[in-house]
Amino acid sequence: MRDSQIYSSRFAALEGEPLDVVIVGGGIIGAGIARGAVLRGLRVALFEKRDFGSGTTAGSTRLIHGGLRYLEMLDFRLVRMDLRERETLLRIAPHLVRPLEFIMPFYRSSFFYRAKMRIGMRLYDLLSYDKSLPRHRFLSASELKEIEPNLRQQGLQGAAVYFDAQANSPERLCLENIIDAREHGAYTFNYTEVTGASLEGGNIKSVRVRDLLSDDETEVAIKSRIVINASGAWFDRVAGTLSKRASEQIRTTKGVHITCPPVTNRAVVVFAPIDGRLMLVIPWL
Ligand SMILES: Cc1cc2nc3c(=O)[nH]c(=O)nc-3n(C[C@H](O)[C@H](O)[C@H](O)COP(=O)(O)OP(=O)(O)OC[C@H]3O[C@@H](n4cnc5c(N)ncnc54)[C@H](O)[C@@H]3O)c2cc1C
Repeated sequence: MRDSQIYSSRFAALEGEPLDVVIVGGGIIGAGIARGAVLRGLRVALFEKRDFGSGTTAGSTRLIHGGLRYLEMLDFRLVRMDLRERETLLRIAPHLVRPLEFIMPFYRSSFFYRAKMRIGMRLYDLLSYDKSLPRHRFLSASELKEIEPNLRQQGLQGAAVYFDAQANSPERLCLENIIDAREHGAYTFNYTEVTGASLEGGNIKSVRVRDLLSDDETEVAIKSRIVINASGAWFDRVAGTLSKRASEQIRTTKGVHITCPPVTNRAVVVFAPIDGRLMLVIPWL
């Protein structure tokens, strides 16, 4: 590695004074941070080892939701923050983020469960008091049958109806953040892996990057005042690489997506009869 000399023309603009922020990872989080930081006048570079948005961002369920589920954990702050972000995205990216109506049917549920749902729905509306989306409502079993005839009728008591939003293509949302960040002066590189860092007194002074588009395996040092690890599921690996200490902060979750012809007219939330696991039936494209 040549520490002071920037050899590759791809990184030539990063030579000289340290950057304000280096971001590791070009998923939706890294892209959003890059845009946010450059709009606040900071000198920013972002490095993504594959293509922008190709990680978990491309594999998500594509919902822009307030996190109705987090209400069960009583994390009101998180839900409020997510609901505010949902509203912001509906406003600034209406070509990518659209309202989506959800139906949550009740099957042979107890009075207590339905009361909990009513409280939850009311809270979800309260926490999004400034939203542009319609408020929740409840449907009787017969009203539900009319609009969603494919739902199992046996034991059906009715449903809650509420709104969240959907981004058909979070990859595009990610890319538009990258493009806007670039237009405001951020340096963004895909196919560039962050492979290590130089530390001084425990603080990162520069990161090492490798241009994966080039046959040259030389690594280049990029100086920065702040390094943000936005590598998502790779967080611990990247943190370990940067700090040279093992990191165990991430607990990953797994979801399965099955694509099939439409079975419902709207998005439907159901729970697996075997173990109560959450299943979402979502229209896409
Ligand atoms: C099954 C499932 C469904 C989900 N559904 C939703 C949903 O509907 N709505 C929602 O809001 N969220 C959803 N999520 C969560 C959401 O997908 C993630 O929170 C989000 O995509 C994370 O974005 P990110 O930018 O942190 O990670 P990523 O998109 O994974 O980006 C991290 C990037 O870091 C890069 N990287 C890693 N190591 C390096 C390195 N050394 N150098 C350079 N780059 C590196 C990777 O290549 C990757 O592109 C879901 C998650 C899962 C698992």
